[in-house]
Amino acid sequence: MSTIRFKALEKSMDRKPVKVKEETTRRSELFESNVFNDESMLQAMTKEAYRSVQDAIIHGKKIDRRVADQVASAMKDWAISKGATHYTHWFQPLTGATAEKHDAFFETTSGGRAVEKFDGGQLVQQEPDASSFPNGGIRNTFEARGYTAWDPSSPAFIYETTLCIPTIFVAYTGEALDNKTPLLKALHVVDDAATAVAKYFDKKVTKVSATLGWEQEYFLIDSAFSDTRPDIKLTGRTLLGHSPAKGQQLDDHYFGSISDRVMGYMRELEIESMKLGIPVKTRHNEVAPNQFELAPIFEEANLAVDHNSLLMDIMQKIAKKHHFKVLMHEKPFAGINGSGKHNNWSLATDTGVNLLSPGLTPMNNLQFLTFFINTIKAVNDYEELIRASIASAGNDHRLGANEAPPAIISVFIGEQLTKVLDELENVTKGKLSPQEKTTLKLNVVGKIPEILLDNTDRNRTSSFAFTGNKFEFRAVGSSANCAGPMMVINTIVAQQLKDFKTEVDALIDEKDMKKDDAIFNILREYIKRSKAVRFEGDGYSDNWQKEAKKRGLSNNKTTPLALKAKISSKSIILFNELNIMTTVEQKARYEIEVEEYIMKIQIESRVLGDIARNHIVPTAIRYQNTLIKNVTGLKEIFGKDFKETAQEQIEIIKNISIHISKINSLIDAMIATRKKANKLVDFEKKATTYCEKVKPYFDEIRQHCDKLELTVDDELWPLSKYREMLFTR
Ligand code: ADP
Ligand code: MG
Repeated sequence: MSTIRFKALEKSMDRKPVKVKEETTRRSELFESNVFNDESMLQAMTKEAYRSVQDAIIHGKKIDRRVADQVASAMKDWAISKGATHYTHWFQPLTGATAEKHDAFFETTSGGRAVEKFDGGQLVQQEPDASSFPNGGIRNTFEARGYTAWDPSSPAFIYETTLCIPTIFVAYTGEALDNKTPLLKALHVVDDAATAVAKYFDKKVTKVSATLGWEQEYFLIDSAFSDTRPDIKLTGRTLLGHSPAKGQQLDDHYFGSISDRVMGYMRELEIESMKLGIPVKTRHNEVAPNQFELAPIFEEANLAVDHNSLLMDIMQKIAKKHHFKVLMHEKPFAGINGSGKHNNWSLATDTGVNLLSPGLTPMNNLQFLTFFINTIKAVNDYEELIRASIASAGNDHRLGANEAPPAIISVFIGEQLTKVLDELENVTKGKLSPQEKTTLKLNVVGKIPEILLDNTDRNRTSSFAFTGNKFEFRAVGSSANCAGPMMVINTIVAQQLKDFKTEVDALIDEKDMKKDDAIFNILREYIKRSKAVRFEGDGYSDNWQKEAKKRGLSNNKTTPLALKAKISSKSIILFNELNIMTTVEQKARYEIEVEEYIMKIQIESRVLGDIARNHIVPTAIRYQNTLIKNVTGLKEIFGKDFKETAQEQIEIIKNISIHISKINSLIDAMIATRKKANKLVDFEKKATTYCEKVKPYFDEIRQHCDKLELTVDDELWPLSKYREMLFTR
């Protein structure tokens, strides 16, 4: 009897919802109570210091040491008053997770006394012992150490009893070793480029911020179940397991009612998020059983990225209290929808205008069209880099598997805007007659309704869809750090807007065109030149695969293939020219990601081999022995006629042997292939071998194991089954 699995089942059925303490039901009172925000800063600091921090946040100005000391002291007092005992520089190394190294405020003085100390130096810079973070050879080649440096644009916060200070993480030689540094640089360039273009329409604009609203999907299963499954524990997903009789066919989970246990978890998660300033707003069930989604109100992109990283962290921590395991993997269960993380993106001015939202006047709408068309053009020109920005072993299971956008990047804009672009495309080249311009403004540009939300049909199969007042990048993986894709989107749009400005100015200066004429002319060209990436049809269809190929769009289905775009000469030039990443940094990142891919597949391969050999095969043999005993007994009773009564059992005995021998020979072959792959010195070849030669064994081995799951006595089966994990709460 498989006691482990049944104990897990019993445990999960006995669980009661965990009581959540709510100090107040008003979420607005909780909001940012653990954040060193504007208000706390104003209260604790001199006006001068406050202004200096604001300058740093808004204009990226340097903060001098004296002010840093003031900020540190204010931060320390605030943190201690909230019960904090330690502080940490909180950063996002290239593992994609978050990292922290805690130090106490406590320090001893020469007189043998103890004081609580934290000064500007400690706030601004710290050296974590970080030699074991991935660095793609940068630190080995250049310098042995890296340091973290304060990012004042993301406010410090207290989690449990630690003051966390968001920081960047760089090598002493200056190379970035984290996700945040290039993101901040990209946000800075897109600010400059977009502000310059926005000034065509409104001289008062002095800053443009990228905005991000992510939607986090995840699965929850009882932790008792994951404890029975080495695959979930070590790889975050199930490597085997037969589909339940009932899956998601009935679509009855989507927006269905949420169980008390899950609700308890969600409530606590929301309360903690609120305190940390993560403005979570919506929660609901997702398509698959036990799948959920959490989305905040959108924020400035750097802050939103930090908030998502922080959220992923606290999701796991809070889940423990509720005896849940959060699965953030892109495809935890075969045959059941995977999880993604939509990245809703837009640009906002410091005059309060969303540049991707149509407005009330033709001028507002021309501004909207300018940013809208430039974004489409950027996506068109850099579609392969965008695909690379979301490549991971986990996401490979989703993209192109008819449940998420395909590996092809395309832009969906809806019928109405397609019409507008078609009309703009037919505008006369060169200077427009006053009459033509009036007609254009009134009948085309002027006709874009202020609210497009209801008119842009939600085409769920598109990877980059315009949804009324923002673009929604839907191909991001659920476990991804949003910094990667956000860095790429903002960089390519920045480059595009710079080119646009140059071209428009050239027409104004050299061809003596009016500003409007010049803008119309360039936009018309862009519409023509970015047609390949626009697609309104069914992204899941085979036709689209063929059509996309004809259009010259990339369709990189695996991570090793997709990642190559990160070191194409086009990308290298782009990031170099905009001063976002050097060639060394880009190559280092590429290497880290390829290595990470290799490691993921290698671990999955080992775990699958172990489970199949140590759990599945012995269980099958045990059941087979029971059958053999049964057959031997029948033989004793029926003598030589036993075959008639024992026919079925004998068939099963034979089948079990076939599956066992297949499993064993497949595992042997897989290990042999792995050994060959490991000998390869070239890391790219190694990744390709893991992808193309090792990974295909997974499905084959799994198939035999899953067949055995259906055959073997339920009571003997050691691993929690899909039906238990997905339908018991
Ligand atoms: P769904 O995709 O589930 O249908 P929506 O498309 O309504 O949901 O997604 C809303 C998301 O878009 C929210 O996370 C919200 O914060 C985000 N969002 C709305 N406006 C903007 C904006 N201007 N910039 C960035 N994100 C935005
Ligand atoms: Mg969405």
